[in-house]
Amino acid sequence: MKFGGTSLGSGKKIRHVAKMLKEKRATETVVVISAMSGVTDMLVEMSNKVVTGVSEKEIKGFVGEMREKHLVTVKEAVAEEFRSLTIIEIEKLCEELEKALIDVSYAGELTPRSMDYLISFGEKLNAPIVSGALNSAEIKSRWYDGFSAGIITNSDFGKASPIWKDTKKKVMDVLKPILSSSVPVVTGFIAGDKKGRIATLGRGGSDYTAAILGSALGVEEIWIWTDVNGIMTTDPKLVKEARTINVISFIEAMELAYFGAKVLHPKTIEPAMERGIPVRVRNTFNIDNEGTLIVKDQEKSDEVAKAISAMKDVVLLTISGLGMIGVPGIAARVFTALAKEKVNILMISQGSSEVNISIVIHRKDLEKATGTIKEEFVGKNVVKDVHYNKDVSIIAVIGAGMRGTKGVAARVFTAIAKAGVNVLMIAQGSSEVNISFVVLQNDVKKAAKALHDEFIA
Ligand code: ADP
Ligand code: ASP
Ligand code: MG
Repeated sequence: MKFGGTSLGSGKKIRHVAKMLKEKRATETVVVISAMSGVTDMLVEMSNKVVTGVSEKEIKGFVGEMREKHLVTVKEAVAEEFRSLTIIEIEKLCEELEKALIDVSYAGELTPRSMDYLISFGEKLNAPIVSGALNSAEIKSRWYDGFSAGIITNSDFGKASPIWKDTKKKVMDVLKPILSSSVPVVTGFIAGDKKGRIATLGRGGSDYTAAILGSALGVEEIWIWTDVNGIMTTDPKLVKEARTINVISFIEAMELAYFGAKVLHPKTIEPAMERGIPVRVRNTFNIDNEGTLIVKDQEKSDEVAKAISAMKDVVLLTISGLGMIGVPGIAARVFTALAKEKVNILMISQGSSEVNISIVIHRKDLEKATGTIKEEFVGKNVVKDVHYNKDVSIIAVIGAGMRGTKGVAARVFTAIAKAGVNVLMIAQGSSEVNISFVVLQNDVKKAAKALHDEFIA
């Protein structure tokens, strides 16, 4: 089971988790944790800052703040008997972090690999505390980083993927033998490549760690503990009427996560689906709520659309030029150019006039994408221009009940039009499990509310 960062903000909360585990855990349990609330963001920010050259004093100040934040939590969460051991581990990690930040500041270069190493400290600093809290609650425990626990990935730093054959074997070798007598705490989000270099699974990736370990161990269920009552009909921060979905299929949950429902990392479902392991999403602080059960096939439900998601931080790129008309292979060249730079395409559409192609990508990929497209086309009389709009979001309406149901798209866009929201681009996957479209960032709330009223409320 995985406990999320938002849920693990303080010692009191960690004690609560230990108590809950004592009462609710299965015979054999692995606990996956993420960093304390806000810590990964702080590490990302500091890493980007040190590379521009900051003083050692400032680095020491930052690490001091991290040390303090975690040591205070140790006092609150770990019994005296186990405290000194936990403190020694945190001190050691803080020394390593300080050295790593100073190294990057001197080198003046921040590679994806060194970024992964720096941001891995959030989970590493939290794990000894949670493990100490379990020991304090008389649950025998020790902690592992994701790599030592057996997750071996490729070297795609920042969004690494597990090498399944090696991972399955190593996780079984390392974790399985100790499960009958203890509860290991494993850092989510971080793993390592074949050379043992730390690689992260992408932001929000601790959910994915739980699924990887669950799948490797062939567990009965994977539980994701978070700060809301499961997967909801939409982000409760966006529409207050959002309510918990009791049962959802793997494919629907995957689409929801892919289109921005932060409650699950998009890759979480993949390993669970492959082995048919049910996933439960529950609220750490409302343990009587059953949360959401994600299963292979849901019995036929009446809902057409089950949930609405919104994805921020995306860019709408439009590639246009009269020279594109009737010229075969333009789309292929665009996609090849983007693939070369490892830019992930979220949505695509081409008008039948062939005067433009629109694609949606993550905002972080914007420079790479425009650069490579310009290099491929501009000045060759085919593509005239590459425009982009940074202030947009993708809205997706998701539900397996839409498959084969007529008139869903009409209902979606009528509701959106009535709310006075302008649609910039539309796509429907051939699976018909979602309809997704792009709106201006400022219209997201209005659009989500209108669709929630139309299909769910
Ligand atoms: P954790 O730290 O536990 O991993 P996250 O912050 O990553 O938690 O994810 C939980 C958050 O996801 C919720 O607080 C909620 O705002 C957001 N969220 C977005 N879409 C949904 C949805 N459909 N259902 C539930 N939560 C959602
Ligand atoms: N701590 C990591 C992050 O903030 C992983 C996670 O929270 O799942 O992205
Ligand atoms: Mg998360």
